[in-house]
Amino acid sequence: MTSEQLDWLRTLPKVELHVHLEGSMSVATVQELTERHGADPTPVWPDGFPPAFSFTGFPDFAAQFFYGLSLLRTGDDLATITDALAATLADQHVTYAEVTTTAYTHFLHRDDRAGLAPEEYRDGLNEGRRRAAARGVEIGWVVDIPRDIEQPHEQVTIDYLERGPTPDGLVAIGLGGYEVGFPAAPYASQFARAAALGLPAVPHAGETEGADSVRSAVVDLGAVRIGHGVRCLEDPAVVELLREREIMLEVCLTSNDLLQVVEHVGDHPLPALLDAGLRVCLNTDDPGWFATDLVTELTLASEVFGITPAQHLAMQLDAVTASFAPPETARRIRAALAEVS
Ligand SMILES: [Zn+2]
Repeated sequence: MTSEQLDWLRTLPKVELHVHLEGSMSVATVQELTERHGADPTPVWPDGFPPAFSFTGFPDFAAQFFYGLSLLRTGDDLATITDALAATLADQHVTYAEVTTTAYTHFLHRDDRAGLAPEEYRDGLNEGRRRAAARGVEIGWVVDIPRDIEQPHEQVTIDYLERGPTPDGLVAIGLGGYEVGFPAAPYASQFARAAALGLPAVPHAGETEGADSVRSAVVDLGAVRIGHGVRCLEDPAVVELLREREIMLEVCLTSNDLLQVVEHVGDHPLPALLDAGLRVCLNTDDPGWFATDLVTELTLASEVFGITPAQHLAMQLDAVTASFAPPETARRIRAALAEVS
């Protein structure tokens, strides 16, 4: 790409709909929190911190991810990582982001430490969200159920969402984690309770499992957007279902590459998803752990698949439509996009 094209992508007004707060920590942030708490990183990185995170598949990724999680011990830690994420979003001209956070993992007892109280969790997120706003980044929170950790009978996340206190800017409920062996259907009643709270469903599906998982996310959970969903292509009936209900797929190229959902990024079905007439937006998933950002993802889409500026513009506009941004925010971003040529 020419430097002009890169500049255009960098300054394009953007929204991001699929980014995990706990997956946004960079090596620098993990180091900072390691020092803050006097933690020992050697079981995970015997030779010291790597220049960038790297791993071979989901289980290896999870081990490092859980070390990062273990460093989030206070509300202030959550504010720190939210602000660090917001700084990178602001650099990329992302002015609205729906950020997923996994409440359950913060409430758990870990080793000899008690988990966070819901009040401290709420206060940390609110403080982080305030700091983000000061950087010009508005955050909507998605609280997700970690399907491979929280068993359906536990109901911790939904009980919390009902009782609170929940953070300001809560917009939706998600379902994250490893799909294999952890189907969506057993969480249906919890998503129904979330719907009663006015929280739409944005579960992950069709990442580590196939098209049936996507169908279940739509039929059993009432998904209005799907995290990933790329394996919907394995069943034309599921593609039709997504088209019919105009469900957007939150596609994450680098994530799918690094977690081996596809063998090489060039094998990614992004063009096939677009050819199938599906709604798609581009996202980072876990930008810290995957050493990526939204500009990198958009650049990759252009370089590998020839996504044009007009297509990028259309995807950003459609992402605004599929977002839960307040009307005034959506209007502002659409106006900014209308000025881009
Ligand atoms: Zn995700």
